[in-house]
Formats: sequence, structure tokens, C-alpha cells
Amino acid sequence: MVGGGLGSRMAEVLASEGFRVALYEKNPKRHVVCGGLVSNETLLENPFLEEYAVHRIDGAVITAGEKELAVERRGVAWVLDRDEMFRGMIERAVAEGTTFVPRAWKNNTEQRVLVGADGATSSIRPLVTEERATLLLGYQAEISWKEDDHLVRVDFGPWSDVFFGWVIPLGNGRAHAGIGLSLNASGEARERLRSYLKFLGVKTRRVRPEGRVIPVSRPLRRVTRENILLVGDAAVHTKASTGGGIRFGLKAIHYAAPVIVRYLGGEGKVEEFNRIHGRELYPSLKLHWAVHRFYNSVSREELGKILEWAEESGFRERLEKEGQMDDVRSLLTPSLIVRIGAHALRILPELL
Ligand SMILES: Cc1cc2nc3c(=O)[nH]c(=O)nc-3n(C[C@H](O)[C@H](O)[C@H](O)COP(=O)(O)OP(=O)(O)OC[C@H]3O[C@@H](n4cnc5c(N)ncnc54)[C@H](O)[C@@H]3O)c2cc1C
Repeated sequence: MVGGGLGSRMAEVLASEGFRVALYEKNPKRHVVCGGLVSNETLLENPFLEEYAVHRIDGAVITAGEKELAVERRGVAWVLDRDEMFRGMIERAVAEGTTFVPRAWKNNTEQRVLVGADGATSSIRPLVTEERATLLLGYQAEISWKEDDHLVRVDFGPWSDVFFGWVIPLGNGRAHAGIGLSLNASGEARERLRSYLKFLGVKTRRVRPEGRVIPVSRPLRRVTRENILLVGDAAVHTKASTGGGIRFGLKAIHYAAPVIVRYLGGEGKVEEFNRIHGRELYPSLKLHWAVHRFYNSVSREELGKILEWAEESGFRERLEKEGQMDDVRSLLTPSLIVRIGAHALRILPELL
């Protein structure tokens, strides 16, 4: 296992099945730069995460072009303490018998299976596929936050060229505020974050922003080759709509672990995971990619009009009752398709 972020979960599962697992982590003391926001479904699927959940989220306020939409449902999401989660998950893997190797993996070890969970700039990805992942910069800072601390914010505006600004409350008057940027605009990250914080009415003195890349890309078609398998950001298991990678990274591990168990037990091949990825993960990830392409293909004013339509048409109520932040299909109602149809047609060729 290379990478002790979500990769430690894979190590834990395989070690608990009695296999010899070595988990390489080149930066065991790392501070994880992440908003830590996950849907309630993520917690239901992965109850071990409850230990790291520090704050409840009851909905989102979305703004674009001076229009605003508030979508609320109690307990729709949670904020995880990512540093606690990183260390806690490695401890869990070690408790199951994983050998923890606190240094960088080099391509000179021998293993029956190699799992690349080495993040967005994976050095294992090129061993598996020639497909390239587009990266964007996620740039965020911890701020003091006096607004509703159970609602996240998603703000489309000039601070972000290909994404949006976000606020994820942490409770106790604190929040993470961040922006996503193309790498071309990354030199302006500090100024752009300042302009977003100004928009929020937050004082910019004493904020200490931190940035990390996020793969926001068309999903990969190939995530295995021979005995090598990719999961998490290394495999672009991130939702291109929001940059969230925890849910799909863990889902990938959930599907990949039994494939490895079978292979090590003498049945099947590691490459079976590619088929499962194509069936269980790729279609959803592609829809998230479509959402990303969509909001970048229309003006912020047009996005604002769509928010206004959502309020007037009753779409907001539907979102509040049935919408799931990880599942684009739950949002695709016939009325929405008609409303965005002409715009959506423009990006269709890219998605096919
Ligand atoms: C600003 C920002 C905000 C985000 N907010 C959210 C959010 O709110 N919700 C959400 O779901 N996702 C969010 N994400 C994305 C989320 O953080 C990632 O999808 C998730 O951390 C991916 O986990 P991973 O284990 O695949 O990769 P990583 O967390 O990057 O872990 C990879 C690990 O591999 C190690 N490594 C790399 N190379 C080697 C090597 N050669 N040898 C040994 N070790 C190696 C690294 O040190 C690292 O610990 C955010 C990301 C950013 C940047």
C-alpha cells in the first residue's frame, strides 16, 4: 500500500483478512489540507468515520450572480477532523497487523499486489495508465465565522476561474473558507482568496492559507494494470462537481479489497477491479464531471437565473427532500433537464 490517507483503510481491511501488508507513508506527520465535508450517507456506509465527525451540517447556501438559494436538511452532512482521521486510520491498520513504513515507497520493492493510494500527484498512476488527470488548486484558510454555523456556503464568483468559493463551518465560531482555481491562476491564489473573504465580510489579517491540488477531471477509464491498482485521488476518485474525494475513495476501497483478497487467495485477477470501477464508480464520477463542465460553460448570471428558477419551480423543496450530494442522478428531474437543456447540449459531445 502506498499512501496512508485513505489507503490505510485498504491496509486495515487486507490485514484483517490475514494478509501481510506494508503501508508506506512518506509524511506520517502531515497536516491534511481538506474541508473534511462528507455526506451523511458516507458515515452510514463507513461507521468507523463517526469517531472523526466533529460538526453537523444542515444544508447549503449557494450563490451566483447576486442570486441565492438555501437548501436545508438537518444532518445532511458532517465535518470530519482530517488530521485525527489520518492518524486514527493508520493506527487502525497497524492494530490489524499492517507493517507501517514511514518513508517514501520506491519502485524497487517486490510485492504480489501494489496499491497506489498516493494522492493527486500519484507516481504510481503512470505505471497503470497514460490518461492524465487535470488538477486544480484547492486553497483554504481557517477563519472566524459568525454566520449560521450549520450551513455550508458555495459561492460562484470572480475569485474562482473554474470552481467556486466555499465555507465549511467547524463549529465554535470557526470555519474553513476556500476557493478552487485552475493551475494557470494559482499564482493569484492569495489575492483571489482575499477577494472571496472580503465578499464574505471576513477580516483577512492573520489568515494562513494552505493549498493542495485536487484532481478535477474526466474519470479514468483504467485504474489497474496487472498487479497494480489505484484508489482515491491517485485514481481520480474525486467528484469533479465539488472536489470531494472521501466518499468515492472509500467506495473504491470497498470494491477493490475483495478483488485483492480473491487474487491473493489464488482466484481471479487484480484487473477485475477495472470492470467493477467501470460499472460502479465511473458512471457517477462522469456525471459529477458533467456538472463541473456545466457550471463552467455558463455565465455566473445564468447560474444565478437557474438558482432563481429552483426557488420558483419547487425544485428546492425536491432537493431538500430527496437530493443527495454524492449522487447527481438524484438531482436530475425532468423539469431541471428542460430548464438547463439548451446549455447541457453544448457539453454533451465531450461527455460521450
Ligand atoms: C483544499 C481542499 C479541500 C478539500 N475538501 C474536501 C471535502 O470537504 N470533502 C472531501 O470529501 N474531500 C475534500 N478534499 C479532497 C480530499 O482531501 C481528497 O480527495 C482525499 O484526501 C484523498 O485521499 P487520498 O488518500 O486518495 O490522497 P491523499 O490524502 O493525498 O493521501 C495520499 C498519501 O500518500 C502519501 N504519499 C504520496 N506519495 C508517496 C510515496 N511515494 N510513498 C509513500 N507515501 C506517499 C502522501 O504523503 C499522502 O499521505 C479536499 C481537498 C483539498 C485540497
